[in-house]
Amino acid sequence: MDCVFCKIVAGEIPADILYQDEGVIAFRDINPVAPTHLLIIPRKHVPSLAHLSEAGTSLIGDMVKVANQLAKMEGIAEGGYRLVINCGKQGGQLVPHLHIHLLGGRQLSAALG
Ligand code: AMP
Ligand code: ZN
Repeated sequence: MDCVFCKIVAGEIPADILYQDEGVIAFRDINPVAPTHLLIIPRKHVPSLAHLSEAGTSLIGDMVKVANQLAKMEGIAEGGYRLVINCGKQGGQLVPHLHIHLLGGRQLSAALG
C-alpha cells in the first residue's frame, strides 16, 4: 500500500520515532509548526477518524494516552498543548492514515479554523 505512515511503521522510510508499542507509534512531524510537533498514529492502517469502527474507539483512547505521556516527556504538559485530528479533505487531512498532531512549546493561536 502506498501510504507514507505505513512505510514509517514498516521501517521503510526513516522517522524520528519517540515512542512505540504494539498498537501505536509516535514520531516528529517532518514539517513542524511549533517547537514540539509530534504525530501519534496507529500501526494499523485506518484511513481517517471517520473510519474508526465502534470497536476501534479504544484505539483513540490509547493514542491520546500516548500523546499525554509525550507532552510530559517533551516538557510541555505544564505550559499547555493542543491535540488535533484532521479528518477528510475539508478537515485539512493530507495523509490518509489516522494521526493525532501534538502541538506545543509556544503560545498557540486561539483560532481553530
Ligand atoms: P494532515 O494534514 O493532518 O494529514 O497532516 C499530515 C502531517 O504529516 C503534516 O504535518 C506533514 O508535515 C506530516 N508528514 C508528512 N510526511 C511525513 C513524514 N515522512 N515524516 C513525518 N511527518 C510527515
Ligand atoms: Zn497507512
